[in-house]
Amino acid sequence: MLIRLSEIEDTQVLKGEMDSARFRQMGDTDVKLLKPVSYELMVAKYDDTVAIDGPVRVAASLECGRCLEGFDIELSLVMSIKLVPRTKLPDSPELELHGEDLDVYYYEGEEIDIDPFVYEEVMLNMPVRPLCSEACKGICPRCGKNRNTEPCDCPEAPLSLLGEKLKSFLN
Ligand SMILES: [Zn+2]
Ligand SMILES: [Zn+2]
Repeated sequence: MLIRLSEIEDTQVLKGEMDSARFRQMGDTDVKLLKPVSYELMVAKYDDTVAIDGPVRVAASLECGRCLEGFDIELSLVMSIKLVPRTKLPDSPELELHGEDLDVYYYEGEEIDIDPFVYEEVMLNMPVRPLCSEACKGICPRCGKNRNTEPCDCPEAPLSLLGEKLKSFLN
């Protein structure tokens, strides 16, 4: 969604959605949205600094890092960023500059597309190693069964040779 800076008097509430096609355009992601990302953001302008704050809701399907089964999550994030004109920043290839306690980004021109910022916020809050449950037993490395649904009788894997060597090295 585009914000036109000239149209913001002081503050403005921006309500919108980002569907999965648009979401995927934003970056190289395999996150599967179950419904559009929705947000209700307060946009405030002070001189040429723009502050964007508010809730962002995400429902997505992820793949468990242990058992590889898909599972659904719902995230409720609170976005809080500041945008400053690019000309005020020293030349930097980095998109993101970390302020004291807020994320500071830059913008150019009179219009700001906020979708990339919402996308960034969502991706920052996605679990790095998603688990369907803390107690997920994962896939048996010996027989390949999903141990959550098909218990197997395989013995626990012994320490690998490398592990043994490392252990004697450390001792
Ligand atoms: Zn799992
Ligand atoms: Zn097994």
